[in-house]
Amino acid sequence: MIRFAKVMAAYWALSLLITGAANAAPACTICTSLDGFVPFDEISSDVRKMIGKNRRGNKAAAVDVQKARGVTETGLKPVFADGARCPEIDSEKWAIDYSHKRKGPALHKGIDIPQPRGTQIRAVAAGTVVGKFRNKRNRKGIEVMLRHTPEQTGLPYWTYSQYTHLQEMSPLPIGATVALGQEIGQTANTGKMGRRVRRDALHFAILYSERPEWSNDGRFVAPIDSYWMDPNAFYRLDGPYDSRSLAALPANRKQIPVPVMRADGSFMPKTTKRVWPYVCE
Ligand SMILES: [Zn+2]
Repeated sequence: MIRFAKVMAAYWALSLLITGAANAAPACTICTSLDGFVPFDEISSDVRKMIGKNRRGNKAAAVDVQKARGVTETGLKPVFADGARCPEIDSEKWAIDYSHKRKGPALHKGIDIPQPRGTQIRAVAAGTVVGKFRNKRNRKGIEVMLRHTPEQTGLPYWTYSQYTHLQEMSPLPIGATVALGQEIGQTANTGKMGRRVRRDALHFAILYSERPEWSNDGRFVAPIDSYWMDPNAFYRLDGPYDSRSLAALPANRKQIPVPVMRADGSFMPKTTKRVWPYVCE
């Protein structure tokens, strides 16, 4: 009888979990054991709007917050190390206006790099997996998010690299340690698009914060007090890293030398802590 009661209790808990999941994504329980994790209610409303967690809110106001927190054009351009030929950003550049593609004001919070379906995507720095999302109901599609300490990148911030439209969910579990250049997934075009068909491409983005704390509510990774960074700026050896200062740089300082990984697994320069998210020739 006691056994039966136990089974019923387990069944009840499970059904609660399932019906709960239909209404809201389950929080990331495993995340709570990771370095820097804080409950989602510690994330400010500005950061929530900034990352796009604003489904029923005022879109124009969210775009204003995103602009104030880094989503503005900088004019930076990648120049690959040692004359390497790397997959390049197409017309879908950093911070361009996406209002024409959406039902209201919107910005492109990342860069797109097209590649054939299945092409391996590489970790841009050593880090830890802090987010994996299916995003069945939105445009991002299958997503992986890594967290990088200042030691792992050489940058004066905690940074977060985001990779979306992946072919399938990464087998890497939350909390997995990832090496520089390790495969984190494959290129595809997942994510809802209505009737339009998206080309196969990686959408790649960077968040940064001076503080180590972050959260994950089961839908979004949200670093505390964070900003968006032009992903091209992620490869700069020195600041500034904020979009406003970057936009004000003289033209010759907007060419950003980008370290690369070759197919044989070597890096150029050899001691780099950051690489382009695809292998180069
Ligand atoms: Zn994109």
